[in-house]
Amino acid sequence: MASQAPSRRARVGVLAVQGAVQAHLRAIREVGAEPVEVRLPRDLAGLDALILPGGESTTMRKLIDAYGLREPMLALASAGAPLLGTCAGMILLAERIAEGDSPVLPLLDVEVRRNAYGRQLDSFEAEVSMPAIGVEPLHGIFIRAPVVSRVGPRAEVLAVDADGQPIAVRQGKVLATAFHPELTEDRRLHRLLIEMVGTAVGHRA
Ligand code: GLN
Repeated sequence: MASQAPSRRARVGVLAVQGAVQAHLRAIREVGAEPVEVRLPRDLAGLDALILPGGESTTMRKLIDAYGLREPMLALASAGAPLLGTCAGMILLAERIAEGDSPVLPLLDVEVRRNAYGRQLDSFEAEVSMPAIGVEPLHGIFIRAPVVSRVGPRAEVLAVDADGQPIAVRQGKVLATAFHPELTEDRRLHRLLIEMVGTAVGHRA
């Protein structure tokens, strides 16, 4: 009988310095992976993937630096671990943040504009078509979401809103959404993240 590598549950970290951490931990558990709360650099050891949740990106950026997480998170990404950023997490991954803020983990060739959907649209829900995860649209929950104001050539748009603005992007193994997939029961994005563990960069279409 051919020997098979013992299958190990993927260990997926969720940056847990601030923000909507619990729903991501639950989603990770539901797709059969092991969730790990990341507060200190040592929590990143041995992770297969990392999620940057929604929250308040200004607070998150301060705490990331206060706890010395920036360099080890970048090292995890360059070692090939897939990353998923949702809402504020997408802001943390952008190479450019409109109006002043410096980037935090510049891994996505996009420009984002914080809170740019306007006051009437502070929070809204919309059906999102994303062929990369299947034909069924997913339910997008947007909470003071960033607008992706520019997409550079290295990033790929996975979904757009009703006005054609990008709301989900991917670059290699870095995925980001302007909305909150963890707040619905749809686990396709978390599953996609797990599927990217162990694949070559750029391997998946
Ligand atoms: N508006 C928040 C920010 O700019 C993001 C909102 C969210 O993550 N739900 O940081």
